[in-house]
Amino acid sequence: MRVAIVGAGVGGLTAAVALRGRGIHADVYEQQSRPAEIGAGVSLGANGMRVLDGLGLGAAVRGVASNLPRIQFRHWRTGGVFHEHPLGDWYERRFGGPFLGVHRADLHRVLLDAYEGKPVLGRRCVGVQEGADGVTAEFADGSRVRADVVVGADGLRSAVRAHVAGADAPVFSGTSCFRGLVPGSDIDGLTFFLGPGRHLVAYPVRGGDFVNFVAYVPDPGRPRESWSARSTPGEAAAAFDGWTATVTSLLGRAGEVGRWALYDREPVRRWSTGRVTLLGDAAHPMLPHAGQGSNQAIEDAAALAACLAAGDDVAAALHRYEQVRKARTRQIQAGSRGNAACFQLPDGPAADERNARLRDLPETAGWIHGYDIGAAVTGP
Ligand SMILES: Cc1cc2nc3c(=O)[nH]c(=O)nc-3n(C[C@H](O)[C@H](O)[C@H](O)COP(=O)(O)OP(=O)(O)OC[C@H]3O[C@@H](n4cnc5c(N)ncnc54)[C@H](O)[C@@H]3O)c2cc1C
Repeated sequence: MRVAIVGAGVGGLTAAVALRGRGIHADVYEQQSRPAEIGAGVSLGANGMRVLDGLGLGAAVRGVASNLPRIQFRHWRTGGVFHEHPLGDWYERRFGGPFLGVHRADLHRVLLDAYEGKPVLGRRCVGVQEGADGVTAEFADGSRVRADVVVGADGLRSAVRAHVAGADAPVFSGTSCFRGLVPGSDIDGLTFFLGPGRHLVAYPVRGGDFVNFVAYVPDPGRPRESWSARSTPGEAAAAFDGWTATVTSLLGRAGEVGRWALYDREPVRRWSTGRVTLLGDAAHPMLPHAGQGSNQAIEDAAALAACLAAGDDVAAALHRYEQVRKARTRQIQAGSRGNAACFQLPDGPAADERNARLRDLPETAGWIHGYDIGAAVTGP
């Protein structure tokens, strides 16, 4: 079997490694002319790390990441901690893997090294032609690739999704985020500062060399999302005027600040046609408020490889893959939307009630972090 994967992001590369690990030939085609080594932090939970461990990449990822010892929720104005829970060893014992902060470029490099074939660069997919005995991916430079399966791992603005699901549009959340890295900071865990209409999440990456922050603000425009859109530390700090000095000085000390408009999509009705399927953000783009974008793409990759390896009937394998993945990713998409409003409540009874509910977090988030995609594929 020959699989052509469109998109060399976290999802596409993990799928290529997982497929090859099961003896299936997989090539990756990426629109950019060099691998995308930009971005800031991503968090990896036990559910994603279980897959990376299974692919033999756990040590390499741990080597470039930060193992986060705790989760903390702090008040926007006073900076006071109103809820804290251990992660670290506690989390690993509970959910079977670590909770890591990792620079996206570092994760990407580990995956690229593992996928020794190297993606074919400068290939922007513009269409897919499907027949009974094969499928062809078409690229903007006029080239074509024939395969048994095409996987659209081409992100939020997926070209392959249009073939599978028709033309639906990304949904703007009305918010954007400032993001950046700050060297040397006393923030050592997964730290939330929650306040009215805004919130900030920070955690260390690269073994603590940097703290990654993402600071969410309302945005009346409809900007295009782009990890290379620039802002300034001053603009980011000004957007959090009146917040605790821990927040404003963190933002003000960033070397570079990017600005990213936040989009997701409504859940897609179907993921697959006979020989074409979707993976990661192409299938289920989600707002970042559950920290699951990369983890879900990694789970998808493991599920797809297991389903394709189980037999020769491609359509049945893709159907099984979709069946295993659809409900879970829908639920996380919806939860990610809901979390934003909950993180940005003004001080008052509703915020007090949320703060009380945070004590149940280990139980309420268990279905996400304790999940074993391997068991889900082989299960009923
Ligand atoms: C450059 C970049 C930086 C990011 N940085 C962060 C970050 O700092 N923090 C965070 O939480 N999330 C970040 N994300 C998002 C996060 O990586 C994804 O949500 C998650 O990992 C899911 O990955 P994915 O592989 O499904 O999609 P993506 O990571 O979006 O990867 C999709 C890949 O497909 C390629 N592609 C798109 N269209 C085509 C086409 N038509 N033909 C060929 N190739 C195509 C893209 O160039 C990209 O390499 C970033 C995404 C990108 C693309």
